Amino acid sequence: MATTTKKTEATHHSMFDAVLARLDKAAELFGLDPSVAEILRHPKKEVKVSLPIVMDNGSIQVFEGYRTVHSTHLGPSKGGIRYAMDVNDDEVRALAAWMTVKCAIANLPYGGGKGGIKCDPRKMSVGELERLTRAYTRAMADIFGVNKDIPAPDMGTGKREMAWLVDEFNKVTGEDQPGVTTGKPITLGGSRGREAATGRGVMVASLAAMKKIGINHKTATAAVQGFGNVGSHASRLLASKNIKIVAISDHTAAFHNEKGIDIDAALRYVAQNGNMLKGFTGGDEISNNDLITCNVDLLVPAAIQGVITAANAKDIKAKLIVEGANGPTEAEADAILNDKGIVVVPDVLANGGGVTVSYFEWVQNKYGHYWTEDEVNAKHDISMNQAFENVWFNSQQYKTSMRIGAYITALKKLDKAIRYKGNY
Ligand code: GLU
Repeated sequence: MATTTKKTEATHHSMFDAVLARLDKAAELFGLDPSVAEILRHPKKEVKVSLPIVMDNGSIQVFEGYRTVHSTHLGPSKGGIRYAMDVNDDEVRALAAWMTVKCAIANLPYGGGKGGIKCDPRKMSVGELERLTRAYTRAMADIFGVNKDIPAPDMGTGKREMAWLVDEFNKVTGEDQPGVTTGKPITLGGSRGREAATGRGVMVASLAAMKKIGINHKTATAAVQGFGNVGSHASRLLASKNIKIVAISDHTAAFHNEKGIDIDAALRYVAQNGNMLKGFTGGDEISNNDLITCNVDLLVPAAIQGVITAANAKDIKAKLIVEGANGPTEAEADAILNDKGIVVVPDVLANGGGVTVSYFEWVQNKYGHYWTEDEVNAKHDISMNQAFENVWFNSQQYKTSMRIGAYITALKKLDKAIRYKGNY
């Protein structure tokens, strides 16, 4: 499909190696004790399960499920569960390590974890997805726990899956523990503001970065790749700050409109069109690679990993990239973007709004007392701006990119925690 984001050769590299490449670079600049670096190079725990599920046609299909706990140095591990066909041990390990870094940067009392099931949720019925989610939860009941390992939504999952997960977990343990997962529906203890939080964080980080580098957001243009939970809210919130969104896309189509895309119209369209942008008439159809290289101030890759590569980085015209997705930029493309003077607000900072409000959800669950959406948003914005300033400071102090500055921000905290805990 012409409009589908093409996987390039670089995507076949190990994602975990890409994490280690950045970690090593930051460790060297920061002067991290090699033994601390060695600890962080290895995930704490990795679990793989086989999940036999009765499909609607009566056949049994066996699915692969994963959960990796990368670190618990700063607190219980935290991170989402992804349903996608490319889920594998390397990807889950990389995403878990990114959560360690992300939670440290966001100043949360959490370590990092991630899970996933290799499946295509778009091709499965609601009943099949429910059986699969419940089977996965039973298989991971020893791993999950409100003070142990706390899942959340990620690609291909949302509040519906989290509702099944918390219900199944509570059945297994025999007690009501809503804080065992976050991203729940509000009626089951979810937090106001959680659904839009990752997109909100992208908006706040974009404004903060524009201020630093002297882009006036009122006259700025943006392209947003991805129109799922992250991209759709990011587009809506950026547009609410008068940033003109000239290109949007999802896995079915990409569109460009020099005059600005009507985001509310796009939101209404996908709501009525099975969550797909294909057929939207608010812009000219382009390819997803055209979106990456189109002439804008701000580019927000908010779909999948590995879309900015050594092959297309040289053609990027944006002055600022704010990474809504996890791992959208291949490690090999970092240097090209740096040489071009493009400022990249890295994933581990830019999409931390989601896990930040997950933390607020967990706190509210523990208290049994719930906040208004305005309270949640206000606390989120303070937290994201603080995280941004810390990363900016470290990137300036160590004369490096914001990405490496972000890893250094995390390493400073992790180094202290690992030393205080000691006992190796
Ligand atoms: N899956 C999201 C992420 O990658 C959210 C994780 C969470 O809220 O625990 O940041």
